[in-house]
Amino acid sequence: MLVTQQLSGLIVMQSQVTSTARAVSAPSSHTIVIVGAGFSGTVLASRLLRTVTTPTQIILVEQGSEIGRGIAYAKRDYPYLLNVPASRMSADARDPLQFVRFAKRRDPAVEGEHFLPREVYGDYLAACLLSAKRGAPSCVSMRSITAQALRITPRRDSKQLCVELSNGIDLLADDVVLATGNPLPANLPCDASVHCHPAYFDNPWSLNTDYSPWQKVLIVGTGLSMADAVMQMQSGVHGVPQLQAISRHGLLPLPQTVFRTPVLRGVDTLLLSETYSLRKLTRAVISLARAIEDAGDDWREAIVFLRALTPTIWSALAASERRRFLRHVQPYWDIHRHRLPACVAENLAKLRHNGKLRVNAGRIESMQAAGDQIKVVWRARGETTSQTCTVDGVINATGPDYRLSETRDVLLRSLVESRLITADPRSLGLRTDGHYAVIDANNQSQPHLFYLGPMLRAEHWEATAVPELRDHAERLATLLVERHLRWATQ
Ligand SMILES: Cc1cc2nc3c(=O)[nH]c(=O)nc-3n(C[C@H](O)[C@H](O)[C@H](O)COP(=O)(O)OP(=O)(O)OC[C@H]3O[C@@H](n4cnc5c(N)ncnc54)[C@H](O)[C@@H]3O)c2cc1C
Repeated sequence: MLVTQQLSGLIVMQSQVTSTARAVSAPSSHTIVIVGAGFSGTVLASRLLRTVTTPTQIILVEQGSEIGRGIAYAKRDYPYLLNVPASRMSADARDPLQFVRFAKRRDPAVEGEHFLPREVYGDYLAACLLSAKRGAPSCVSMRSITAQALRITPRRDSKQLCVELSNGIDLLADDVVLATGNPLPANLPCDASVHCHPAYFDNPWSLNTDYSPWQKVLIVGTGLSMADAVMQMQSGVHGVPQLQAISRHGLLPLPQTVFRTPVLRGVDTLLLSETYSLRKLTRAVISLARAIEDAGDDWREAIVFLRALTPTIWSALAASERRRFLRHVQPYWDIHRHRLPACVAENLAKLRHNGKLRVNAGRIESMQAAGDQIKVVWRARGETTSQTCTVDGVINATGPDYRLSETRDVLLRSLVESRLITADPRSLGLRTDGHYAVIDANNQSQPHLFYLGPMLRAEHWEATAVPELRDHAERLATLLVERHLRWATQ
């Protein structure tokens, strides 16, 4: 055996004979491997560092070069803004203004209602982790490894899991948390020739902006990623191309405003009593929003209020009502719930007014390469005939594809194939139990494999933004610590 790397308390050895890496963990210490160090993985690690008191190693595995960023808070060429004011972005629910204080230290002019650059938020998450690491007891260590986790397999001879990494190292873990974030977007309906075409962009945050004002770019999707793509397009040196955005309903996210946190008494009971019928529930929510507006306040208060109730409402809805929600109500819920900073919404409105951005309701039927361009066949909503356009760029801004059966992610695919994780029947993510353990193909909770991140929406619906994921991270950390304490004292 040749020792190739020594992580505190974890000796990773490479077999000279087989060249397969092996890992053994110190017997008295508990090893928690977190796969993915975006928001969820970083906040979970920070929370564990602050709460664990028994000998524990936390290993963060991140395929990207930086901790705490993920897709949302990555350093990009364009200075994207958070979609939520700074005062609602703390990573610690007990200290709501933590992020505002962090940002103020850099720029004293920052106020809680400001929409700050996303990159600053990534800096903040990394700083939170560093501070938690510094404050952790000496028996608790944390390491990060830059690699992609490829496979996770249960060990036959123990209860541990083996996490196989792209750098040849295998990690042995007592518990593994999948915090791999949002799945990739679905492939658009197109010829294989389009996928590798230079005018086709699968990643709306990494685009060619070198277009002339007379060139045409089609953005598929009209949500928050579309807004990001438009902003990036505007940063091109030759001007903004002719932009067309298309989605099933052609609805754009609504703008944020400054509003107060609502105090609505008795409304939760009223809404919960309507969960037997989606129609009644929807009417009750609309009436609530109207009543708030009639009282001179902001309909957004109804959404904020509802957000806290969403997991309870979601679990109370019958399967048929949930399906109805996904088919008929979700597009309207999404534009009210996932809002844009007012300046971004105004910018989109201006582009539409100037004819630079057209928004259509419809769907793409096919796409094929046409020299340097892409020929797109699409059909407007409610129309029987299709239209054809030839464009100089196509951007896939359709958002995450939560259909696990279709996943292109190596790790998730291998976990599905090895029957350790299973897809939610409504294609909303993966199945977990009430304690974040994934549910396997035998319908059993995997006792040492957990999931934290946006695919919790299958269980909770509302699980994509900071406040909800922060609370889930907190609960999972508490569960892991309590379980380990029980195990250690047995
Ligand atoms: C563009 C964007 C902007 C957003 N803005 C806001 C906002 O303003 N306010 C708000 O409240 N919410 C916002 N959100 C929502 C929310 O904050 C994110 O969805 C959240 O960051 C999700 O965190 P995550 O850790 O689960 O996923 P991610 O942040 O995506 O992190 C997952 C990490 O796992 C890594 N990974 C994946 N697979 C592997 C593997 N096999 N091996 C190793 N590493 C792996 C990835 O590289 C990534 O770093 C935004 C989301 C997006 C996409």
